[in-house]
Amino acid sequence: MTAQPLLERYRDLLAEPDERFPITLGEGGTPLLHARRLGDELGLDRLFLKFEGTNPTGSFKDRGMVLAVNRAAASGARAVVCASTGNTSASAAAYAAAAGLPCHVVLPAGKVARGKLSQAVAAGARLVMVDGSFDDALGAVRRLGEEGVAAVVNSINPDRLAGQQTAAFEIVDALGESPEAVALPVGNAGNITALWAGFVRYAEAGVTPGGRRPRMLGFQAEGAAPIVNDAPVERPETAATAIRIGNPASWSGAVAARDESGGSIEALTDAEILEMQLRILRSEGLFCEPASAAGVAGVERLAREERLHRSEGVVCILTGHGLKDPDVVAGEEGTLTPVDSDLASIRRAMGL
Ligand SMILES: *Cc1c(COP(=O)(O)O)cnc(C)c1O
Repeated sequence: MTAQPLLERYRDLLAEPDERFPITLGEGGTPLLHARRLGDELGLDRLFLKFEGTNPTGSFKDRGMVLAVNRAAASGARAVVCASTGNTSASAAAYAAAAGLPCHVVLPAGKVARGKLSQAVAAGARLVMVDGSFDDALGAVRRLGEEGVAAVVNSINPDRLAGQQTAAFEIVDALGESPEAVALPVGNAGNITALWAGFVRYAEAGVTPGGRRPRMLGFQAEGAAPIVNDAPVERPETAATAIRIGNPASWSGAVAARDESGGSIEALTDAEILEMQLRILRSEGLFCEPASAAGVAGVERLAREERLHRSEGVVCILTGHGLKDPDVVAGEEGTLTPVDSDLASIRRAMGL
């Protein structure tokens, strides 16, 4: 065991007295990198990227899942259940495995991101596909929870959001102060709700110097922008599958985070999001999910329109790892044709 487990590090703010957290996969403690090259391009001297892709299952979901599954196991749950086609199922399956509990995933028919489900399947989760929407799947899962059949680990479980606050604590700890702004993608809106709660909590606990808090900048995809348009979207569509949500579970939390922090929630096109995904990788070497790039693409716009200023400290949350969803990245390998293996031919092919 190397670093102190996440829940132990922040147990003053998260744990009940004498509560034990035996299950950990080494979540949290993710890098906060000063993005100098990308910052130069965007006109921001203090642009930081928090890379949540280094979490055990490759997304920030692990921060809340570790708390939810520890508590489910401690309370004698016989199984965990979630509705998901993506990172929630990957995280739930991994932590359930570590707890020795079966994990059931309910997913809507025809809306399956196969690549993302592979983690859950490989971890031994049992999948049930329903002929219905994500909302139908979540409704069924809610009922199973109410009946006491299994512990629900979707973000309607308050332990999920409580654990996700730790990203805010880590940001303040790493910078030694609150940044001026924090940007992130908004799907079910649990994370923007949790991060804002975390910044408020840290300030009120007297940890954040000056009691300062950042403006919360949330970004949705144009085809899935219910909060921006102030209306649910029946058939949300975007290549950024992690934020393809038409009726966010934490809608009011996101609106409160935006308004209380003096921030904003705006929409971006898929083209803007996918272009920024490559730009982050090519300028900074970090490969994040399409959804993760939405926060940075939004910051690019705000900086261009001088709604963010050069000297302001801005943290973008790169919510998940790019390897989760490799198919959306247009590669060059498909067009390769072999050349002769002599050095001259290879040199010529390289253009050197
Ligand atoms: C879950 C997820 C999101 C969306 O977070 P919400 O809390 O649903 O708003 C964004 N990016 C990635 C990679 C995710 O896994």
